[in-house]
Amino acid sequence: RVIVGTKVDQNHVNYVTAYNMLTGIRFTVSRINAKMDRELTAADFDAKHKFSFDITGNELIPSAKYDFKFKDYAPWVFRHLRAKFRLDPADYLMSLTSKYILSELGSPGKSGSFFYFSRDYKYIIKTIHHSEHKLLRKILPEYYRHVENNPNTLISQFYGLHRVKMAYGRKIHFVVMNNLFPPHRDIHQTFDLKGSTIGRDLHESDLERNPRATMKDLNWVRRNRHIEVGPIKRDFFIEQLKRDVVLLQKLKIMDYSLLVGIHDAARGNEEKLRDKTLQVFQPGGDREEDTSPNSLIRTPSKLENERKARELRMLIKRERPVPLDKAAAKMPEEILDERKFHVFYADDGGFQATHENNQPGEEVYYLGIIDCLTHYGTIKKIENFFKGLSHDRSQISPIAPEGYGERFINFIKGITMSKEEAERHREAQEAS
Ligand code: ATP
Ligand code: CA
Ligand code: CA
Repeated sequence: RVIVGTKVDQNHVNYVTAYNMLTGIRFTVSRINAKMDRELTAADFDAKHKFSFDITGNELIPSAKYDFKFKDYAPWVFRHLRAKFRLDPADYLMSLTSKYILSELGSPGKSGSFFYFSRDYKYIIKTIHHSEHKLLRKILPEYYRHVENNPNTLISQFYGLHRVKMAYGRKIHFVVMNNLFPPHRDIHQTFDLKGSTIGRDLHESDLERNPRATMKDLNWVRRNRHIEVGPIKRDFFIEQLKRDVVLLQKLKIMDYSLLVGIHDAARGNEEKLRDKTLQVFQPGGDREEDTSPNSLIRTPSKLENERKARELRMLIKRERPVPLDKAAAKMPEEILDERKFHVFYADDGGFQATHENNQPGEEVYYLGIIDCLTHYGTIKKIENFFKGLSHDRSQISPIAPEGYGERFINFIKGITMSKEEAERHREAQEAS
């Protein structure tokens, strides 16, 4: 699957922001990586360091193209987290600091976040709201402990937390995290599942316009889809999901989703034979902004797409990684190296379908719990109150974290049952 947003080049409105983000990451990550490793201390979780970049630079800070301030949070903690997630330090820097930086996907949706892919699509930079930033800092010790005790956690892998501020500009908080979807496999269908039904529907007509748009719970149910991984892997998956949800409940987090990308091996190979045209990937299929004329995101023209396709093919063909500063060009096999250690990301970057009789299935699932930095705070309480007046309360998506997690788990349990099992389950329920 080739996912391409809009390349952030010099003419892009967010070029300076993106440039500053990457310059800051390069400097702060190199700085921490240069130090001799040591154990974490409690103070490391609260640490923050501020740097001023300008066009002259000084003996500590290299010169930059623009004036901006950069804040780095808990660098030691994130260095250790990256190691736990088995990222190669040099590789991480190379992916995020190539000259042709990033592509931007999506535009401000409900949350107002922007998403940027690293050049090799391994990492996503997501701009986050100040409240999400504060929450991540607060939960960092518990998140860290969870990752330590759960190497196969499905919760988003956070690799860095930073803030950039341009001269006279506003403060932009952002995280670097894993892209759940692999760069070299077509994802034929994407679902964002919460276990709620109200408003959780992507219009089928939107899907006709963009077959890769992210679908939601009702689309899943209507298609009678199932995650088929056989009994052994299913138990393992549900067990991990439960452990992750217990943490999120404890931290009073809600509004998260299970992101499910499905690669169909049969279809994938067919499509590989035809000429590969690049797909524009839009997060949240419900984002009307994406189609508005003054949207930040342009849909690339056919010519642009072809040019990008050529560039990408050249990147993939190149034999060896090129020096820092040039585009990161690793072979697709290498790209997924670190994922081999993760049970749910070990089969070609994902989780291979398995039939009930333990024979391998045709599909590969790419799974993870995303958008998990929303605290059940005042905003949600207000939202809950108003929606609660007009709908069945258990079906509204902003319910308290306990109930949210329970409903989430129940939904996922339901869709990982085999079709026969689900049938029996339903009959039993109807009988009682
Ligand atoms: P909202 O709060 O309105 O739901 P948001 O701006 O917080 O939106 P997310 O829910 O985090 O955004 O993500 C939106 C979409 O972006 C997802 O449905 C998914 O398609 C894509 N996406 C998000 N995180 C990842 C990831 N780690 N890997 C791949 N795709 C992702
Ligand atoms: Ca979301
Ligand atoms: Ca969100």
